[in-house]
Amino acid sequence: KVRVRFAPSPTGPLHIGGVRTALYNYLFAKQHQGDFILRIEDTDSQRFVPGAEEYIQETFDWLGLEFDESPQKGGQYGPYRQSERKDIYRQYVWQLLEKGEAYIAFDTPEELEKKRKEIPNFQYDASTRMQMRNSLSLSKEETQELLDSHSQYVVRIKIEPGIDIRVDDLIRGKVTINSSVLDDKVIYKSADELPTYHLANVVDDHLMQITHVIRGEEWLPSAPLHVWLYQSFGWEDSMPQFAHLPLLLKPEGSGKLSKRDGDRLGFPVFPLQWKDPKTGEIFSGYRESGYLPEAVINFLALLGWNPGTEQEIFSLEELIGAFSFERCSKSGARFDYEKARWFNHKYILATPDEKIAAMFMPVLEEKNIPASHDYVTQVVGLVKDRVSFVKELWDQSSYFFVAPTVYDEKTVRKRWKVETPHQMRELIDILEKMDDFSAENQEKVIMKWIQDNGYHLGNVMNAFRLALVGEGKGPHIFDITVMLGKDETISRLKKAIE
Ligand code: GLU
Repeated sequence: KVRVRFAPSPTGPLHIGGVRTALYNYLFAKQHQGDFILRIEDTDSQRFVPGAEEYIQETFDWLGLEFDESPQKGGQYGPYRQSERKDIYRQYVWQLLEKGEAYIAFDTPEELEKKRKEIPNFQYDASTRMQMRNSLSLSKEETQELLDSHSQYVVRIKIEPGIDIRVDDLIRGKVTINSSVLDDKVIYKSADELPTYHLANVVDDHLMQITHVIRGEEWLPSAPLHVWLYQSFGWEDSMPQFAHLPLLLKPEGSGKLSKRDGDRLGFPVFPLQWKDPKTGEIFSGYRESGYLPEAVINFLALLGWNPGTEQEIFSLEELIGAFSFERCSKSGARFDYEKARWFNHKYILATPDEKIAAMFMPVLEEKNIPASHDYVTQVVGLVKDRVSFVKELWDQSSYFFVAPTVYDEKTVRKRWKVETPHQMRELIDILEKMDDFSAENQEKVIMKWIQDNGYHLGNVMNAFRLALVGEGKGPHIFDITVMLGKDETISRLKKAIE
């Protein structure tokens, strides 16, 4: 059974690139009726940020991407927070020590610093480890003594030089690197009794029976070490398959998209708004900016993957069906926020009017404008093709709720002629006598009146619109009059000629 995990470190708000990584994990898992797991990698207590885990969970609740197992939900492979798995890791670190695949090192930070100065390009590995203070260079007794005296130590993985390590990547193909370039990475620290990322990550992927590790390209350099760790444990037969996803690049196309890019260019790089607990700085979020979760999912899916067709609008179900690693690109995906807006516009159009109306109602309530859900739904239907966000609806529809108080000067100059007040008075007369106020009948009667009198069609109709809307924009005029109703239409005309 396919089992994938999203394994963020709670060191701050989730970046939109992280959301994309999670999405690809989700799509792949669901395509194979597999499990999608959330694991919180919080072994680096120094970088822990309060609220970050809640932020992650809230993001996926909002997006509607549900985990099958998570810290919140539990599951049979838990706990799902690495800080709660200390005992497990210790056991596996000791296993590597016993097998001779790892060793204990006592070098203090000062000693390491000194070595780095002495030896150019110093690397803690087979070429240098005998000059250092560790259980390989010291005698058994010396080592034991140091341990008994509670000296601080780390455990390092012992990398044999000169061995080819092969990483099979579902996106990049086979990558082979020589073990000589790797250093003896620290896998455990006695100071906090915690493993480092690499060990915890591999042990958990193994114990949680993860079949596919799908993550950002920034982890590709770590993959050979992870493969080495699997081999050291003797787990090579159950090693997961790797897929390293291309980076999300700045809109300009060069460099990784960073958290500062968002507010610099006026678009969010975080799914939800985030307030930095230390500095109080606020970073905008997709949710608060008015993006629909479906639009965000659709937009992200296409940043690094393409369907091989012209299709751009995909439901989540369609994405699950269409996704494949073969169609993931190897090179970075340029972040295109204009496209994000376009997607949101498309999803506003595709979402039923009554749902958009429900999102718009709070905006109206805040302005103290009473309106029924029914009425708002109809208004939304008339104007939603003009907006990309719910918050833009007010600008496009305020005249459905309140009569204009000012009239757009440019339109007045162009359309409000000396004969206009007289014409509008005639129009009021016609409307007052009209029994059938349907759009069709209004159009028939009014067009005939204009023709019979030889009036200028454009000027009359635009003056009419000006009286109702306050400017020259808006949907079809008779859709507006029907919505406003006969009395309101007449009252606005009267006000305009006052
Ligand atoms: N904790 C790592 C991160 O924050 C996980 C990388 C991985 O998926 O292996 O991205």
